[in-house]
Amino acid sequence: MHEVSIAEGIASAVESTVAPGTPVLSVRVAVGELAGVDIDALLFAWQSVRKGTSMDKAPLVVERPEGRAWCMHCGKDVALHRHGDPCPECGGYQLLATQGHELKVLDIEIPAEDESQPQS
Ligand SMILES: [Zn+2]
Repeated sequence: MHEVSIAEGIASAVESTVAPGTPVLSVRVAVGELAGVDIDALLFAWQSVRKGTSMDKAPLVVERPEGRAWCMHCGKDVALHRHGDPCPECGGYQLLATQGHELKVLDIEIPAEDESQPQS
């Protein structure tokens, strides 16, 4: 399943970023609207992928950057929420997607260094 390998990719990116043994509080990722990822399936996959790792308790927070496209018909830059949708301006179907395919780790939240030893 596609989403499982994506979840594994996120987990290994996190593991190679944080120091071994550091508990991860949350992981924030960007999955563009046009990336072709089923978010529910990704969140489900995350539940099993994170087991037994430093991300055991870390929720996956998903942001969805908007898909955009250039319409060859009317020449406008328009929002495209799904591949195959028509141009919202002219109803044409010749759209060239320009953004919304991103799939990347944005933030990894770990405990603050001085949290356990407050300054007195
Ligand atoms: Zn158009």
